[in-house]
Amino acid sequence: MESSVNLGPSCPACKEPWLRPSTLPGRYRCVYCLHRFELLSVCPDCGEHGTIVRMSSTADMRCNHCGALMLTEV
Ligand SMILES: [Zn+2]
Ligand SMILES: [Zn+2]
Repeated sequence: MESSVNLGPSCPACKEPWLRPSTLPGRYRCVYCLHRFELLSVCPDCGEHGTIVRMSSTADMRCNHCGALMLTEV
């Protein structure tokens, strides 16, 4: 559905902006280094609960409390 050229959020593993939503909700895959990531419901840094928008949007991948990336490698 994504038609615009969008250099998405940077991959935590390789730092390249090729993180893309996968077919599973809450899952992301880096098309550059092929690492897979899962969106966390609780911030790994401050423990704040995130508001997970289970859409293709990547805007809510960061903790709105401390700004940490709420992704874990799977
Ligand atoms: Zn990567
Ligand atoms: Zn946080």
